Amino acid sequence: MTTCIFCNILSGLSPANFVYRDDLCSAFMDIHPVNPGHMLVIPHSHSTLLSELDDMSVGHMFQVAQKVDVALRSSGIKCEGVNLFMADGRSAGQEVMHVHLHVIPRFHGDGHHLRFSPSYFKLPSPTELEKNAKMIRNQMGGIP
Ligand code: 5GP
Ligand code: ZN
Repeated sequence: MTTCIFCNILSGLSPANFVYRDDLCSAFMDIHPVNPGHMLVIPHSHSTLLSELDDMSVGHMFQVAQKVDVALRSSGIKCEGVNLFMADGRSAGQEVMHVHLHVIPRFHGDGHHLRFSPSYFKLPSPTELEKNAKMIRNQMGGIP
């Protein structure tokens, strides 16, 4: 047993309903689904944050999400659209500190909504948008 529930699921020490597994990633049902069919795609290598995960696993996690998204849509489970969601860090709502990508089936009238604070409804000025773009661009090494 480790202190990470997802590592324990991967090693078989804790139960889960798997839908996919390969060398790098697995997908299994979320124990507390937003809607029926809600899955989690996780890399096998333990990282807390996306920034700590190796490039291969990052890319592969999204490929697996695409595969299970396709399967979900044709499974017979009610699904008119899909939200892919990742909480990357505690302040972003991450509760299990092993990188995971939520694949959540959505349908009209399911009653779920993303809620934003009032600050969202004040559009930033072009100057502020560019200031923020520049700060991030600088960390990216610029655009060729
Ligand atoms: P987070 O808030 O970290 O983005 O989401 C963690 C997700 O993991 C939640 O949706 C929660 O229901 C799910 N979860 C937590 N513990 C377990 C578990 O033991 N098994 C499974 N299958 N899902 C879990
Ligand atoms: Zn882990």
